[in-house]
Amino acid sequence: RAKVEGRGTFRIFDPAMDAHVQARRALEFDLRNAQTLGQFEVYYQPQISLSTRKVTGFEALLRWRHPTRGMVSPAEFIPLAEEIGLIVPIGDWVLRKACQEAAGWPNALSVAVNVSSVQFLRGSLVPSVVSALSNSGLPAERLEIEITESVLLQKTDKNIDTLNQLRALGVRISMDDFGTGYSSLSYLRMFQFDKIKIDRSFVEDVTSSRDCSAIVSAILGLGSSFGIPTIAEGVETEEQLSHLSGEGCTEVQGRFFSMPIDAQEVRRIIERIGV
Ligand code: C2E
Ligand code: MG
Ligand code: MG
Ligand code: MG
Repeated sequence: RAKVEGRGTFRIFDPAMDAHVQARRALEFDLRNAQTLGQFEVYYQPQISLSTRKVTGFEALLRWRHPTRGMVSPAEFIPLAEEIGLIVPIGDWVLRKACQEAAGWPNALSVAVNVSSVQFLRGSLVPSVVSALSNSGLPAERLEIEITESVLLQKTDKNIDTLNQLRALGVRISMDDFGTGYSSLSYLRMFQFDKIKIDRSFVEDVTSSRDCSAIVSAILGLGSSFGIPTIAEGVETEEQLSHLSGEGCTEVQGRFFSMPIDAQEVRRIIERIGV
């Protein structure tokens, strides 16, 4: 609907659209200030080996503690942060913070950090990783970078080059959300991943849907024939756990063991289980 306003000003008027644009602008404004205001926090979710039943490390998950909206999920603001390029400084901060925190954990524990394709395209990821490691003193072997297929979708050669440079430092690379992409299988040929993460959507229905169970078996089979360890994310029930365990999955992560928790809680858990 077009509406003529006053002195010949003319604009497309759609109240719904207007509200949407307003909300987005407000979120963008707050997001631009969030880092300076110290509203970000890193939470950690334990990853458990199915052969030893021990915690092997934690995945770092970004949290935004908004003064009026409460905890805003990364699923809500990461796409926006990517769009406006803000994911580069935010991502650098997460890397630094997670490496610092992990450097205080026992040597057997690693930290997995999610990295956006925009950090590959627009950031200087290798120098960022190098400085996060040297400032924290965390050995490269204890850092894992989680990427999604979008990293291999564009500027593939350049990004594989970056992955190789990270690998040369000793950092491990895992393929997140495996199976949800357009050509997940072909990515396994492009780069030698250190770990495959089975997407939560398959884990969710693994005990109730024949299709999901078949997909999970196929992914686990691929992992074992490629010699790549596999981790299932979003494990919530005992049934899912025993299914995955029986099918030869290497590691698990999910609410069945623990929700993502703050750094202090991680330190408490470490003391309690005495890793
Ligand atoms: P992801 O990397 O696939 O992370 C797994 C998501 O599943 C996390 O959501 C986690 O909290 C959630 N989760 C864990 N266990 C369970 C469970 O048992 N059941 C269910 N239903 N969910 C579970 P979260 O923390 O909201 O993060 C969402 C996504 O945001 C992440 O998906 C990741 O892609 C992205 N993200 C998080 N932190 C960062 C970051 O620092 N940088 C970038 N670039 N992306 C991040
Ligand atoms: Mg992840
Ligand atoms: Mg994932
Ligand atoms: Mg996921």
